Amino acid sequence: MAPMLRLYNTLTGAKEDFAPIDPGHVRFYACGPTVYDAAHIGNARPIIVFDLLFRLLRHLYGPAHVTYARNVTDVDDKINARAAERGISIRELTDGTLAQFHRDVRDLGVLMPEDVNVAGERLRFVEPRATDHIAEMVAMIDALVRSGHAYVAEEHVLFDVPSMPEYGQLSGRPLDEMEAGARVEVAPYKRSPLDFVLWKPAKPGEPSWPSPARIAAPGRPGWHIECSAMSAKHLGRTFDIHAGGIDLIFPHHENEVAQSRCCFSTNVMANVWLHNGFLQVEGEKMSKSLGNFITIRDVLNDWPGEVVRLTMLKTHYRQPIDWTLRGLEESRRVLERWYNAAGDEAPAPGVPDAVVEALCDDLNTPAAINELHRLSGGPEARPADLRAGANLFGFLASTRSDRARKRVESSGVDVAVVEALMAERRAARAAKDWAASDRARDALAALGVAVKDNKDGTTTWTVAG
Ligand code: AMP
Ligand code: ZN
Repeated sequence: MAPMLRLYNTLTGAKEDFAPIDPGHVRFYACGPTVYDAAHIGNARPIIVFDLLFRLLRHLYGPAHVTYARNVTDVDDKINARAAERGISIRELTDGTLAQFHRDVRDLGVLMPEDVNVAGERLRFVEPRATDHIAEMVAMIDALVRSGHAYVAEEHVLFDVPSMPEYGQLSGRPLDEMEAGARVEVAPYKRSPLDFVLWKPAKPGEPSWPSPARIAAPGRPGWHIECSAMSAKHLGRTFDIHAGGIDLIFPHHENEVAQSRCCFSTNVMANVWLHNGFLQVEGEKMSKSLGNFITIRDVLNDWPGEVVRLTMLKTHYRQPIDWTLRGLEESRRVLERWYNAAGDEAPAPGVPDAVVEALCDDLNTPAAINELHRLSGGPEARPADLRAGANLFGFLASTRSDRARKRVESSGVDVAVVEALMAERRAARAAKDWAASDRARDALAALGVAVKDNKDGTTTWTVAG
């Protein structure tokens, strides 16, 4: 029997047994990127962590029984400003940054919609874009105004926070404390300082859409409403899991809950709320002003995606991560060991129980990785199990030979030249001409080729990397 999945739920502050609302269909939403510029390595954390959860859910419930929605925020102040600066539409700008994001995350071994969706079937992975859902947002806003949970003021629509007595449940903040925090520079049109924007007027030249009822001029949506509209459309009014970085708990997720629950008169928006911890770089908060701002592409220029992925998953997702060069170097060594241990072995038909059990314990990736380690050497080495376990994680997709071949191809090394030098070295060694043998080895090293004399008398070569 499959082990019970347990997840730490921000809403209840406890680790709970996971039970989907519809046992035959798990529905999972993650807040995705705002595509105004290249994504940074901190943004990669929720993408990788929740990709792993998606893989685990597919493993536990079957690929046809899980729907994952990860949205794309393709309109906001930064996007509008950048598009205006370049004299292009926000669609042109965000098409470009979204394509870059897709290249980045694909290289991190993250499943993509085209990897999992099956023609003619319900989508298993949806990537909805905010600007494709404006009508759904306006419909929700109109409904909130009609039911008295929102009001129109100076061409804005505001959510009326005091109209929802349970507001603040997710972040666990008392209302009066939040009010005190919100008092700085309260916009004059707000009835309560906590009220937040559902819709606002567009400034001249900004992209705009037809507004909700009673507002003549076109406008644009606030940020929070997009996730309420897109999750309802693609997953339903109530669904199982909602995820994002810890910074999103308040106000973003708190406001999503308020909008969705008040609009649909439901007791919950999502049952389980998951939040990943933050990533720091070499012990410091990442920021442009500190000069330690690293994009995903910067890292991928220096490291294989698999090394980056392992570095991200070595730390439990709820803990903060310190992103360091040492951590990356260590991951590279670990993967090297796994590749060698798994060799050209095919994956075992089942994933080892201990790996699944560890992941089912609130995605305990450090424990699952230890398990892979145990399977990769010593008396318990089991190459086929290692590969099956690593595959569930999104690692070791290729065999050792495939990998060596790929490295040769991408290095641009001329195989005929290498083979000729190898033959020269063999002949020199047979003639005990050590100087000539060393010269051949040096020539190979200059090409980036490492030579290994094996115990069985054969000699093999690899491209260093
Ligand atoms: P943004 O594009 O800023 O809305 O962020 C997209 C996602 O990345 C959100 O889930 C954020 O919580 C997450 N995120 C942003 N910065 C970091 C960081 N330094 N560490 C971990 N997650 C982050
Ligand atoms: Zn969201």
